[in-house]
Amino acid sequence: MKCPVYKKCSGCQLHNLSYEEQLEFKQNTAQRLLSKFGKVEEIKGMYYPYNYRNKAQARFITARNGKIISGIYQSTTNGIVSTDSCLIEDKKSDEIIVCIRELMKKFKISTYDESTGTGFLRHVLVRRAFKTGEIMVVLAAFTPILPHKNDFVHLLLQTHPQIKTIVLNIADGKENLVLGDREIILHGDGYIEDVLCGHRFRISSKSFYQINPQQTEVLYKKAIEYANLTGKETVVDAYCGIGTIGLIAADKAHNVIAVELNKQAVKDAIVNAKINKAKNIRFYNEDAGEFMVKMAQEGMKADVLFMDPPRAGASVEFLRSALKLSASRIVYISCNPQTQARDLEILVKGGYKVDMIQPVDMFPHTKHVETCVLLSKLKSTQYIEIEFNTDECCRTGK
Ligand code: SAH
Repeated sequence: MKCPVYKKCSGCQLHNLSYEEQLEFKQNTAQRLLSKFGKVEEIKGMYYPYNYRNKAQARFITARNGKIISGIYQSTTNGIVSTDSCLIEDKKSDEIIVCIRELMKKFKISTYDESTGTGFLRHVLVRRAFKTGEIMVVLAAFTPILPHKNDFVHLLLQTHPQIKTIVLNIADGKENLVLGDREIILHGDGYIEDVLCGHRFRISSKSFYQINPQQTEVLYKKAIEYANLTGKETVVDAYCGIGTIGLIAADKAHNVIAVELNKQAVKDAIVNAKINKAKNIRFYNEDAGEFMVKMAQEGMKADVLFMDPPRAGASVEFLRSALKLSASRIVYISCNPQTQARDLEILVKGGYKVDMIQPVDMFPHTKHVETCVLLSKLKSTQYIEIEFNTDECCRTGK
């Protein structure tokens, strides 16, 4: 399958390679960055590496001839690649985006004009829970006033009855952040639910949720296998999002302490604990680094630490505190092996060894590599206080 706009779009950097070659490329990337720590297992790829994304996002603009265009936002050129479908996105989600564009024409709903700072719609985000079929539509708009609101919502639901909720997000900032803080629910409850590894999860518009659910199950199963839980352990789930890993682990652990910065995600996580009847998990809405420092200061210990930071990796404070937490196993999931390698260096110096490295292809056709690494604490080594320079140039990116 070939994408007609892949060169212009540049979202699928490896699209010109066959899927086998893509996997080889990612295996080599993981090996180049991580093999100094141990053997890199063979990457787990997808059987059908298309339409895997459960989240589609389109930017809306009006062309000079007055036609409304939707497509993929190009941050480098500040432009847009006009397209109605994407090979890695869910087909239904793409159809909904096209339907919204048609309805805008019908109801004369405008797009936001950056040059004048006027108009309405900026982006549309569609999330589809593959297991339950529930769909969430988020209209990210400059103002809260949607003309012909009721008719618009009615027709959209009539055409796509699988839509469970429609949220109007007020994105009135100058910067091009997709979502703003304020939200008005136009239909439903403002969330959808999905099932992963036999657990049910509520997902709100601004909460992080893995975009490839099929491979997420592969990844989570590996992470849980690495944790080797027996039911007695105190587990920390750092960067927990809506609590997915922590809640799956909670079944097999004594208790779980989970931390996440995003407020909406923590609200979802607390509900998710209830939905899954997990009474042995607590969520904290804090910066993971600061939280870990506090845990270390209070002399708290854990048996297993799951960490799944964003692309920037963990902070030095987080890693120093992780060493003090003295977990016998650390399961480090990363979407950026470069920062993971940098962080592993610190954990290894601090008395851990890397036992397993498993790459998983979460993002076929793109250059992105996801890895799950198991570390275990060396029994013979005491924790040695190591001086880290927090201004290290590689960390600040300067
Ligand atoms: N483990 C989750 C989320 C992983 S994505 C899952 O598999 O779904 C990384 C998460 O880290 C996001 O939810 C993001 O909101 C959160 N995050 C980013 N910076 C953070 C910080 N400094 N402290 C705590 N959480 C943070």
